[in-house]
Amino acid sequence: MAMPETTALFHTLVERFVGPLAQIGSFIDGRLVPGSESDIALVDPASDTEWLRFQDVSPEQVQAALQSCAAGQQAWAERSAQARGIALQALSTLVAEHAEPLAQLESLTSGKGITASRAQLQSVVEIFRYYAGWTDKFGGNVIPVPGGQLNYTLREPLGVVLAITPWNSPIYLAAWNIAPALAMGNAVLLKPSELTPLTSIALAKLAIEAAFPAGVLNVINGLGQSIGDNAIANPITKKVVFVGSVQTGRRVNAAAAKRPIGCLLELGGKSANIVFEDADIPAAVKAAVVAGFANTGQNCAAGSRLLVQRAIYDRFVQAVASAAAEYRIGMPLDAATEGGPINNRAQFNRIGEMVQMALAEGATLAYGVAQPSQQPGFFVRPTVLRDVHNGMRIAREEVFGPVLVAIPFDTEEEAIRIANDSEFGLAGAVWTRDVARAHRVAQKVRAGIFWINMYRDMHVSTPFGGYDSSGYGRSSGIESLYEYTQTKSVWVPTHVGA
Ligand code: NAD
Repeated sequence: MAMPETTALFHTLVERFVGPLAQIGSFIDGRLVPGSESDIALVDPASDTEWLRFQDVSPEQVQAALQSCAAGQQAWAERSAQARGIALQALSTLVAEHAEPLAQLESLTSGKGITASRAQLQSVVEIFRYYAGWTDKFGGNVIPVPGGQLNYTLREPLGVVLAITPWNSPIYLAAWNIAPALAMGNAVLLKPSELTPLTSIALAKLAIEAAFPAGVLNVINGLGQSIGDNAIANPITKKVVFVGSVQTGRRVNAAAAKRPIGCLLELGGKSANIVFEDADIPAAVKAAVVAGFANTGQNCAAGSRLLVQRAIYDRFVQAVASAAAEYRIGMPLDAATEGGPINNRAQFNRIGEMVQMALAEGATLAYGVAQPSQQPGFFVRPTVLRDVHNGMRIAREEVFGPVLVAIPFDTEEEAIRIANDSEFGLAGAVWTRDVARAHRVAQKVRAGIFWINMYRDMHVSTPFGGYDSSGYGRSSGIESLYEYTQTKSVWVPTHVGA
């Protein structure tokens, strides 16, 4: 059972930022609308007890939400670029004003430690501020065509974008993916995970307070299967941005291809964190732990494959195992918590099964538990597996939990070959004091994000996205502005007598 005071806090936060408990549903055209289909339970990850129940959105509500988005988009695109920037800045300010209670709501619903939620709320503030600055600074070009003609380009919004997000960082990923679309004059129909929808609805409510037109940001709340194909098939939807697993990404991509409309896919990873024997070992150990266990491993860019040069393999893996033992797994609202519980039971069970599978394949436990704990709540100890080779399933499949696999290598070529022997290509890192080697490895590893002597830092101003099965498209920085605009080429004769 959740503690009575925690439940009371949760209910207070929901009523303040989302709406009455009995009304929880979708946020369409500026108001909360309960669903009418099957029941969905929101469960407290820290106690495995039900927080509340709501009904899945109906197909008619999805259609209504899209129509509202279409009307909202027209009103939004009629505003000047400067006015859109002012609204985005106002939303940033409102999020900043309510950052602490929103971080609490995020932690209680997702299981994320409050310190991490606080940092992500600050990022949300920064994301809206960053794109507020872009609205009036991104435009077309004049092209020097031959002959007496003028040609210029306009960058126009696409219209309505469907954004589908997962449960691991709900409000952060919502902001990350909707802000560039909104900045470029689009409306967004946001479909958060049914496991963590509350802070996305809170964000849409704050957008109304920030004087966004109703319908510019609608949130539909329900099961992916019942929403996805329906919303993607609707001609109002002009693009889909999907953040989630490879399996669902393939389905979304196939549904979009039938129209056809564009997709931006941010999928999973199995990123290689490569440590050479000449590395700054204490720094590399510290970073390996954060790379593997931040957000209890529920992190698409996790450095879940730890590649260590053989000469230091034993001592490095031992040091990581000792640091894993110190890693503080705890309650979501405890500021000392480094990793909270796993978000949901299905994922919790899957992590235990994957560790068992690895042990059966011949991996050995350097630190961790062979079975998830039996205490209430979805708590898992960080786990370090050694004697792993890259052919094992545990080295090939994303766990999405706090499980690091340590793989030895001998040479630079071998490290690069192992790093690239993966269907994924989201992130990677190298640790070495040899500058030339660091840049060689950075260039040769197939990944959308690469760190040298660091791991995990990201910023909204730099491009983020994957290679291969980790997806395609870039969801941040200037590159994201191209994702959410289309180019019109305009011609006009200018020669005398035209
Ligand atoms: P998931 O694929 O199960 O679900 C993601 C979203 O898709 C949810 O909102 C879900 O309701 C929805 N969905 C499910 N079926 C659908 C369908 N048929 N049509 C449309 N939408 C559907 O993923 P998850 O388990 O919520 O999240 C974990 C995954 O997300 C991991 O693989 C992780 O690596 C990935 N992820 C990637 C990034 C990135 O930026 N690359 C970031 C975070 C998470």
